[in-house]
Amino acid sequence: MKTTGSAVVRRKQLSEPHPAPLNALDYPRFEGISTLFRLPYVPDASKLDVALIGVPFDGGTSYRNGPRMGPRHIREQSAIIRPYNPVLDIKPFSELRVGDYGDLPINPLSIEDTYEKVTAGLATVLEEGCVPICMGGDHSILLPILRAIHAVHGPVGLVHYDAHSDTWDEYWKMKYSHGTPVRRAIEEGLLDENCILQVGLRGQLYDINDMDYAREHNIQWITAEQFHEHGMPLVREKLKMFGGRKTYFTLDIDVVDPAFAPGTGTPQVGGLSSDQILRLVRELKGLHLVGCDLVEVSPPYDIAGITSLLAANLLFEQVCLLCFCEE
Ligand code: MN
Ligand code: MN
Repeated sequence: MKTTGSAVVRRKQLSEPHPAPLNALDYPRFEGISTLFRLPYVPDASKLDVALIGVPFDGGTSYRNGPRMGPRHIREQSAIIRPYNPVLDIKPFSELRVGDYGDLPINPLSIEDTYEKVTAGLATVLEEGCVPICMGGDHSILLPILRAIHAVHGPVGLVHYDAHSDTWDEYWKMKYSHGTPVRRAIEEGLLDENCILQVGLRGQLYDINDMDYAREHNIQWITAEQFHEHGMPLVREKLKMFGGRKTYFTLDIDVVDPAFAPGTGTPQVGGLSSDQILRLVRELKGLHLVGCDLVEVSPPYDIAGITSLLAANLLFEQVCLLCFCEE
């Protein structure tokens, strides 16, 4: 293994220029082969500081499926993203070597086999000192991602934006699904139990005791109702607990209201606006991030690509966050 456990974003010293998006003034945005942000396809993590990785698996969905088509549609909608972020004042592709790593191989008929493939695929990326940003795929892929992260970094904190806690024990007697990855990750010791924050939870539960597991394991959460009532100061206060700890950031697009992000499998009303989620992501500037993902975009339920377009923008913000994560 080429990196130590202390690496977060380690900028590679290579003589070749940074991978750069196609210039839209030379090649209009509707031209060319779709890659994320029109960056080069670079399936070699030794050339990258940050790898943008598709994980097109939706065998963990419990209601409407479709996130297997997420990466393709997000890539297409990302063609409109320009390279400078005026809010964070950063040009991420000039700061870091970022490329579209392509998709990890998955097995659409087996969640266990997919988990092995995802963990192994990410190990290759992490061994090169490269930070992964994964796009799903459904939220079941969080578990094999965290297994790979844990192998390099040990237990990490978790920032989890989602309408759902994803701490159910099982569905139809199955332990692995998009409703269980946080619970499995805690059971497997992948997370720093005193450093888990969930934001945006809402919707009906099965029972009044449904959040007992989260309480027993000291998961901190801010419901959508609390966020709407108290706003960003409440989030800022809770984020202080991460300090300089290594932290993984997972974003389930259903944290956003279905009015802004209809293309998802388990929609919940009363969620965040696209403006609010952009701000919530930018609030993570300065956290010690070891990886990020964005999951649960389901293009078959999308309308005019608005969910994939929002997802592309949020992934861009995630890349920008990593520019502030040096050792
Ligand atoms: Mn989720
Ligand atoms: Mn969700």
